[in-house]
Amino acid sequence: MMFKFLATFALSYLWHGMGTTIGYHRLLSHRAFNCSKPVEYFWVLGGYLAFEGSPLWWAAIHRAHHKHTDTPLDPHSPRYGLKNAYYGWMTKSTYPPHINPRKLCPDVAKDPLYRFLDQGGNWQRSHMLAASTGLLFRAGLWGLFGWRVALASTLAGVAMLQIPLLLNVVCHTPALGYKTYAREDDSVNVWWVALLAHGEGWHNNHHAFPGSARSGLKPHELDLSWLTLRMLQGVGLVSSMNEATREKHVALIEKGKETPPSI
Ligand SMILES: [Zn+2]
Ligand SMILES: [Zn+2]
Repeated sequence: MMFKFLATFALSYLWHGMGTTIGYHRLLSHRAFNCSKPVEYFWVLGGYLAFEGSPLWWAAIHRAHHKHTDTPLDPHSPRYGLKNAYYGWMTKSTYPPHINPRKLCPDVAKDPLYRFLDQGGNWQRSHMLAASTGLLFRAGLWGLFGWRVALASTLAGVAMLQIPLLLNVVCHTPALGYKTYAREDDSVNVWWVALLAHGEGWHNNHHAFPGSARSGLKPHELDLSWLTLRMLQGVGLVSSMNEATREKHVALIEKGKETPPSI
């Protein structure tokens, strides 16, 4: 019985985690690789059932975060208050004037399902829809497989709801990690966030190469989402992956688009 609980938790944690990292983040927000719609929906559903909210909302907020990192227009920079960076930014009722999801994410807004989940930009309605879908899904699991499976799945979903929120704060607090790339923003690499968030904790690397499907760059920087994407590429489910390389970064510096790396 305990085995069933632990196995469901582990599998759910992987699916919901990578639904967020591979689906919401690397695919919808950064278009770091290509895949078919069924593969896209498989990952995005994993994120949606981890209470991540409207995919269009998530991608628009995230693109705004990259565009305005650690400035007053960044939706969740800890420079302007910890509480707002952690969860305060989510409690607004709609998009701030400088974030127009249709303009920032025309590619995501093209999908009618994502437009529906965004509920016309009404955050309360889209959050409610995501929360009720997540709870209905667990009620279904309870009916089909019993309370242990439903509880393990709920706990994995709630854990994955927390982790990106935590990442926004921890990986933008310089004292808590290291910088491989000297950038003007506060992004840092944090090993334990990378472990919890399947590779997303290498956040300084990510800000240096936002379009890369790979965030762990040094040999010790384990990036489970990247390894999974490589596996999916191997079996033909994913194609055209962008991969960060040192050479590409040096080219950016030469074009004057980046500050020089610190090492
Ligand atoms: Zn960031
Ligand atoms: Zn990003």
